[in-house]
Amino acid sequence: MTAPTFSMHVSVEQARALFAGLLPAPPVTALALRDALGCTLGADLPALVSHPSATESALDGVACREADTLGAASAPVSLRVVGESRAGAPFVGEVQAGECVRIYTGAPLPAGTDAICPVEQLREEGNVVRLLRPARPGDVRPEGGDFHAGETVMAAGLRLTPARLALAAALGHAQVPVRRWRVALLSTGDEVVEPGQPLLPGQVYDSNRVGLAALLREAGCEVLDLGHAPDSPAALRERLNAAGGADLLLTSGGVSMGRYDFMRDLLLEEGEVAFWKVRMRPGGPALCGRWGGLPVFGLPGNPVSSLVVFQVIVRPVLTGEPLPTRQVTAATPFASLPDKTAFWRGVLTGDEVREYPRQGSGVLRSLSDADALVIVPEGQSVAAGERVDVALL
Ligand code: AMP
Ligand code: MG
Repeated sequence: MTAPTFSMHVSVEQARALFAGLLPAPPVTALALRDALGCTLGADLPALVSHPSATESALDGVACREADTLGAASAPVSLRVVGESRAGAPFVGEVQAGECVRIYTGAPLPAGTDAICPVEQLREEGNVVRLLRPARPGDVRPEGGDFHAGETVMAAGLRLTPARLALAAALGHAQVPVRRWRVALLSTGDEVVEPGQPLLPGQVYDSNRVGLAALLREAGCEVLDLGHAPDSPAALRERLNAAGGADLLLTSGGVSMGRYDFMRDLLLEEGEVAFWKVRMRPGGPALCGRWGGLPVFGLPGNPVSSLVVFQVIVRPVLTGEPLPTRQVTAATPFASLPDKTAFWRGVLTGDEVREYPRQGSGVLRSLSDADALVIVPEGQSVAAGERVDVALL
C-alpha cells in the first residue's frame, strides 16, 4: 500500500473539524412545529403578535381604579359591579369611578381600570363588592410584557427544544424555517439480523441501527433507513450509490482492520477519505470521507463504539452544540490511555462518579446501566477524589 493521503489517528477535535468540513449546511426548509423538534432554526424568528396581546389580569378578582381603593388600607371600600371580563370574552365599555368588573386570569383589563383586587380580598354583597385591601396595579400583565409584535425573539441557529417550539407557536408561527439534515443510515455485516427474526449461533441483532436512528431523530435529523447490507463490496457499492439525496450517509461496521471490513476498502479505494481512526476509546476505527459527492461517516460496528462515536463526534457537528459536559468528583480511579482520549462509562451518584465495572466496547448494557461518559484526556489519569469531566448519557 502507498502512503495514505488522508489523516490517520486524528484527535477527537480534529475528527469533528474534518467531518464538519465535509458537510455543507442543508438548505432552509419550512416544517410544521410538530415535526421540528431538535431541528436547527434556519432564520431569525420574529413575533407576529404581542404577548400578552392586551394588558390582562394575573388573578381572579375584580378590576378597578387603584385610586378608588386606597382607603381600603384602613377600612373596607365598596365598589359597584358593572360587568365581567373573562379570557376570550372581554368587558366592552369603560369602567367609571366607584365601579369595578369581575375579572379572571388572562382576561383583558377593561378600559378605565388599572388594578386588580384578588377574590380572596373581597366580600360579595349582591351587586356590590367590599375590598378588604387596596387593589394592586402589579397584578396585571402588561401588553407585550413577554414579547412585542415585530421583535426578533429567536435567532437563527438555535436548536428547537420543546420550550422553543412552544414559543414559536406563541409568536404566531404554524411552521418554522429549519435546517434539517437528511441522513441515510446503513448497517453492515453478514452476521447482523433484524430484531424479531430468529438468531442463529454467531449472529447478532442489529442494535446499532435502532440506537443510531433514535440518536439522529433526537438530534433533529430526518432518517432515511437504508436497512442492512452484507459484507460484500458489490452489495455495499450498490447501497452507497442508493444514498443519493441524503446530506450524509452514516454506516456502522466494516471500518476496522479485518479482511471483511469492506466499507474501509471501498472508501479508501473508490471514494475519498478525510480521516481514518480517531485517538479515542471506545470507537478508534471510525472512518470519514466521501462517496461521490456524498459525505460518509463510517462508525465502528461494536455497539458501544458506534453510539459513543456518534455522541462525541457526529452529534456536535450536526447540532452545532458542543458535547455537554460537567465536572464531578471521581469516586474511583479512571485509567489513563497514553495516546487516546478515554470515554469510560460511569455511574453517577450526586456529585460523584464511579467506574462501571464492564468497559468492553461490546457490552451494550454499559450504556444503559451507566449515566455518563467519563472523559480522560490522552495521557492523563484520574485518581479517586479528583475532579473529572463527564458527558451525560
Ligand atoms: P465490525 O466493526 O463490522 O468489525 O463489527 C464489530 C463488532 O460489532 C462485531 O462483533 C459485530 O458483530 C458487531 N456489530 C456490527 N454491526 C452491528 C450492528 N448493526 N448491531 C450490533 N452489533 C453489530
Ligand atoms: Mg462487520
